[in-house]
Amino acid sequence: PSVLRGLAPEVPAVRWDDIGGLQEAKAALRELVELPLSHGRLLEAYGLPPPRGALLYGPPGCGKTLLAKAAANECSANFLSIRGPELLSKWLGESEAAVRRVFDAARQAAPCLLFFDEFDSVGGRRSAGGSAGGDAAAARVLNQLLVEMDGLTDRGGVFVLAATNRPEALDPALTRPGRLDHLLRVPLPDAPARSAILAASLARCPLAADVDLAALAGETTEGLSGADMAEVCRRAGMAAIRELVAAEEAAAAQTQRQAGAAAEVRQTAGDA
Ligand code: ATP
Repeated sequence: PSVLRGLAPEVPAVRWDDIGGLQEAKAALRELVELPLSHGRLLEAYGLPPPRGALLYGPPGCGKTLLAKAAANECSANFLSIRGPELLSKWLGESEAAVRRVFDAARQAAPCLLFFDEFDSVGGRRSAGGSAGGDAAAARVLNQLLVEMDGLTDRGGVFVLAATNRPEALDPALTRPGRLDHLLRVPLPDAPARSAILAASLARCPLAADVDLAALAGETTEGLSGADMAEVCRRAGMAAIRELVAAEEAAAAQTQRQAGAAAEVRQTAGDA
């Protein structure tokens, strides 16, 4: 009966190859997520506490969500995604309950990657009075998040990933050992990464012979995010489809005119 009605974990379809660039983040995530989610027993046998969480940070639209989904897919784990603001509820006490429900759902769906997007909305630095960014509800959510993260057992099969554009605004308690203790940078794509994003976005589009992806990834697109690049591809693809449809319609109209003319000729011949 709340904001969390739609808690529906599923294994996402995103593969590592769908993500352009970000080699470092991909490699780090592979290692971080695969061991605890796919080989938890080995870690336990060796008496090693598995990594429980990591923080993805960087500008908007550069692949944080994609990375989280690919990481889950890679180990056939479920993916449960929550936006930070969804956890904030104006009703007293509801927010902590929401956090508990989210972690319960993740445990039930284990192996599960639990992804918190827009994390700064709940993970903000608490003031001396205990409130996060002056917001008491956010502080309660944050406290409950810490409790839940500390309560994840080694064999629980839950890995937490959080994403933020403003890592410096987060409460330092969140990044202590045993919590989100790996920080992975997800920067704006450089030229080779932009070229890879173009290739990934256009993987199924037929390209004209004179399209030069490496050139397009150069200075013209400097400063664009992955989401911007994907949008450029989407618009180009739509324009191409529109041209295709117009050409097909013109051809169909032409065929119809020819058929009409042929019928007229037959008619005239018959009349004669
Ligand atoms: P936000 O901080 O706004 O949540 P984000 O970093 O999580 O953004 P994503 O949701 O992963 O960004 O990316 C948004 C869209 O942009 C993707 O669905 C995809 O189409 C495109 N995109 C972004 N980065 C990449 C990339 N590295 N490779 C391929 N596509 C990308």
